[in-house]
Amino acid sequence: MLSSGTYPIGTPGQAWGDAERATWLARQVRRRSYVDEVASAIDRLRDRFDVAPYGQLDYPPEQFDVFAVRSRDWDHALPTVLVTGGVHGYETSGVHGALRFLDRHAQDYAGRVNLLVAPCVSPWAYERIHRWNPLALDPNRSFREDSPAAESAALLRLVAPLRDAVLVHVDLHETTDSDESEFRPALAARDGVPFEPGEIPDGFYVVGDSENPQTEFQQALIAAVAKVTHIAPADAKGEIIGSTVVAPGVINYPLKRLGLCAGITNAPYTTTTEVYPDSPRATPEQCNAAQAAAVCAAIDFALARTPR
Ligand SMILES: [Zn+2]
Repeated sequence: MLSSGTYPIGTPGQAWGDAERATWLARQVRRRSYVDEVASAIDRLRDRFDVAPYGQLDYPPEQFDVFAVRSRDWDHALPTVLVTGGVHGYETSGVHGALRFLDRHAQDYAGRVNLLVAPCVSPWAYERIHRWNPLALDPNRSFREDSPAAESAALLRLVAPLRDAVLVHVDLHETTDSDESEFRPALAARDGVPFEPGEIPDGFYVVGDSENPQTEFQQALIAAVAKVTHIAPADAKGEIIGSTVVAPGVINYPLKRLGLCAGITNAPYTTTTEVYPDSPRATPEQCNAAQAAAVCAAIDFALARTPR
């Protein structure tokens, strides 16, 4: 366990500079293949969907194409659904849950919605099983104009023309034990602030927008996912990761102010899913199924509430 001031890079109380970021980068190891596990799976969707790269991330000597998958016969009269996965590359079920939704469920919505899915927004981090990009930036705090994170900037460009057309946006994430053992201590060290230990909730939860909470919508996702995997209980303070639980498994963040992916459109229905893959009670299969179930429930709820 790492505690305050013991992260191996940097000086306690001082934010990282270039040297510390370079030290951090040198420690990152490629552990899996984006091409073999993700890009090839996206490629196999080409016979059913329109697939195209929406950007290229240049991290010499490496280069990654990021892909958008769109429903065929795009119809401007239909509402648009946006699904994003792998904004945090290590959150595996976000990526494979988005692919599972496309493969097994997207067909159910043909002719009812336009689908735009970006299954893996941060491929370099997918390969390193990491949260940040190579600049030690968190793409999911970087969705703002002139973003310094190329992953966020590329997705913002993709979505910009549709910002007001999106009815539902589901951004697929995980909360993991490594958040507490590695990524939160690294964040505190990077920013030169003390690390304050927290609790990792055991189970699925969602994060709504405190500016537009849509609690019934969030609860519909929770009800659907509860059939697949267990929902995170509130802690002794009535919170999940430091935020008040407003309904079972539901917390809210100010999405746009924090530069979070779920805030990149003006969709009336928007959520961030948080699957817990490290639970002894959850398999990878269940985690992927939970993500897909959340997407389906989100679309079903929004369509039911939208006048045709
Ligand atoms: Zn995440």
